[in-house]
Amino acid sequence: MSDATIAVLIEQRDGAVARPSLEALTLARTLGTPVAVWLGEDPSADAVAQLAEFGAAEVRVAGIGAESRYPAKAAAGIAAATTDAKLLLFVSTFVNKEIVTRLAAKSGAGVVVDAAGVEFVDGTGEDSAVEAFQTVFAATWNVRTRIPGTGVVNGPGAIVGLRPNTTAASAAEAPGEAILVHLVVELPATRETITAVEPVVQAEGVPLAEAPVVVSGGRGTGGDYALVTEFAELLGGAVGASRDATDEGWIGHEHMVGQTGTTVTPALYVACGISGAVHHRGGMQASGTVVAINMDPDAPIFEICDFGVVGSLFDVLPQAIAAVKAHRGE
Ligand SMILES: Cc1cc2nc3c(=O)[nH]c(=O)nc-3n(C[C@H](O)[C@H](O)[C@H](O)COP(=O)(O)OP(=O)(O)OC[C@H]3O[C@@H](n4cnc5c(N)ncnc54)[C@H](O)[C@@H]3O)c2cc1C
Repeated sequence: MSDATIAVLIEQRDGAVARPSLEALTLARTLGTPVAVWLGEDPSADAVAQLAEFGAAEVRVAGIGAESRYPAKAAAGIAAATTDAKLLLFVSTFVNKEIVTRLAAKSGAGVVVDAAGVEFVDGTGEDSAVEAFQTVFAATWNVRTRIPGTGVVNGPGAIVGLRPNTTAASAAEAPGEAILVHLVVELPATRETITAVEPVVQAEGVPLAEAPVVVSGGRGTGGDYALVTEFAELLGGAVGASRDATDEGWIGHEHMVGQTGTTVTPALYVACGISGAVHHRGGMQASGTVVAINMDPDAPIFEICDFGVVGSLFDVLPQAIAAVKAHRGE
């Protein structure tokens, strides 16, 4: 590990720290000294304590208030907080991608999005480079992307967006106190016509892309999502769906997983009554463990699953629900 400053843009949800940021801080600890970058109103004492617990040496607050919803202004806030950083990590959301590309356009930094990991090569000095790892083409290829010359840019020479659930979040072994630093940010005077919008969240408050478990239902549900929802809730996960199911109007489009829908990388993905068309697979194939329940033993989903059950979801899911409850002694 180096003593390089690794900035982590913190994702907030109603003032609390979103779990993917804790994953990013965990990764940052393996690369150097993490500092948390906080946009908007001051963080609560609980949020600062949690950021320290996960290794942040400082929490740098770019107090730009509601202006942070404008990507160019948010980029100015991040720039002010990262002048000494070698690397900026962020959670790879649509909004953050919009923000950091503006930052990179100004600073000349290299950007990689949707990464599963990152490391320094050739140290962290003048000749340093950063390599990020991604799975691409519907998770069929692993690639490493190198950002050279990170030592010669003023501010973070490399900016890397991390997919949720790619690093297991863990608290630092010997966390210290995080120093709270308030920054004065000079905002660009430009008139902004674009505002960043909140990601669509499901009832339980977890965006589909961040959920550690996703239980999805397809045409095989026939529109009945009761068992899929019950199983998802039991596992603390989110409900996903195929496009055929959302097109039928059985469930909202915000649940769609796949090429058109959301790309998910949960630790566990359960596909119920989903055939496994390439457009669906493209959005879930990089999940940790894939479980498939399908009546058709030749369904393509069985080619990519880790554990498959041939049978009706209406027979299999009640047994799975009962087994999980029995295992927990409920
Ligand atoms: C440009 C483009 C983009 C697309 N983007 C997406 C996308 O983002 N996401 C997406 O999902 N699709 C997308 N699609 C559509 C995709 O090609 C498939 O049509 C869709 O994924 C199929 O949905 P499905 O698996 O629910 O339905 P089907 O393919 O009809 O499969 C239903 C499955 O359920 C099984 N089944 C039936 N009854 C039961 C039961 N009781 N228990 C268990 N299994 C049962 C059947 O054996 C079958 O395998 C896109 C298509 C195009 C052309």
